[in-house]
Amino acid sequence: MAPIVIDGNVVAAALREEIRVDVARFQTQYGYPAGLAVILVGEYPASVTYVRNKSRYSQELGMHSEVHQLPASTSEDEVLQLIDRLNRDARIHGFFVQMPVPAQIRPLHLQSAIDPAKDVDGLNPVNVGRLVLNEPCLTACTPLGVIELLKRYDLPVAGKHAVVLGRSNIVGKPMANLLLHANATVTICHSQTRNLAEITRQAEILVVAIGKTEMVTGEMVQAGTVVIDVGMNRIEDSSKKSGFRLTGDVKYDEVAPLAQAITPVPGGVGPMTIAMLLSNTIRAAWDSKKTG
Ligand code: NDP
Repeated sequence: MAPIVIDGNVVAAALREEIRVDVARFQTQYGYPAGLAVILVGEYPASVTYVRNKSRYSQELGMHSEVHQLPASTSEDEVLQLIDRLNRDARIHGFFVQMPVPAQIRPLHLQSAIDPAKDVDGLNPVNVGRLVLNEPCLTACTPLGVIELLKRYDLPVAGKHAVVLGRSNIVGKPMANLLLHANATVTICHSQTRNLAEITRQAEILVVAIGKTEMVTGEMVQAGTVVIDVGMNRIEDSSKKSGFRLTGDVKYDEVAPLAQAITPVPGGVGPMTIAMLLSNTIRAAWDSKKTG
């Protein structure tokens, strides 16, 4: 049977429309918009594009949007000062530092300095701890987007064996926690995992976030698996206007015929990340009214 192809563009568009309504409700109630700020240090090309898109979408939904672009030579202290200002700025309900940052800056120092209530990337250790404890918190956008896709496609998680490939702080670990809280039995794999294929073949839900082009092949997946490909790998391609094409971590042509459902790359998880950032921002805006 043909797999369900999970369309992240359609889900993200629907979600944005829901957020637009919520943003308008907030504006009507309080007389000013929900606000999102982004700090960009340096000019790493992919980051410039991501930041532009995040800012454009937030404006389109009626949010107040700020981009603070700093030169690559900016010191950690200077970024911390800006973070302190944004923490105290009542117009800004959520903000984040676009990664990666130049070598002189320690990401964890920045993430730890962001007010947890404004931490729309969900990377402040307070939010990470609350996620592990299954307490309300702002959560990393990409794994949150994966859970939203599973929900909106009515793909049940409870009781399933979910295998997460990758243990990064931004995808793998929060993903595993979210699946655990949704009552999956979770296995986390990484670069030191032995007999990887043996484990992935046991997955009923397989989330792949390793950053290795098409590493997951048909042999590694059992029939009927829900396959979520988080990978976004840029491959040089002179036939494309951009000069590159995006590939996932899953060999789609081999795996799709086996899968119950699968996300394509592009057009699967990718569009959900920005949508969840906007969702976290309006949530942070409402929460700011509850707490203060
Ligand atoms: P990281 O490089 O931070 O982490 C990769 C993880 O994969 C590590 O835990 C690593 O293990 C593991 N890994 C690497 N090679 C193997 C292997 N051969 N077998 C098993 N595990 C392996 O990457 P991210 O988590 O940040 O991103 C992963 C992918 O997701 C990338 O392609 C990235 O571009 C994409 N991404 C997409 C997003 C989206 O919006 N769609 C958002 C964020 C990321 P170890 O810990 O042992 O090194």
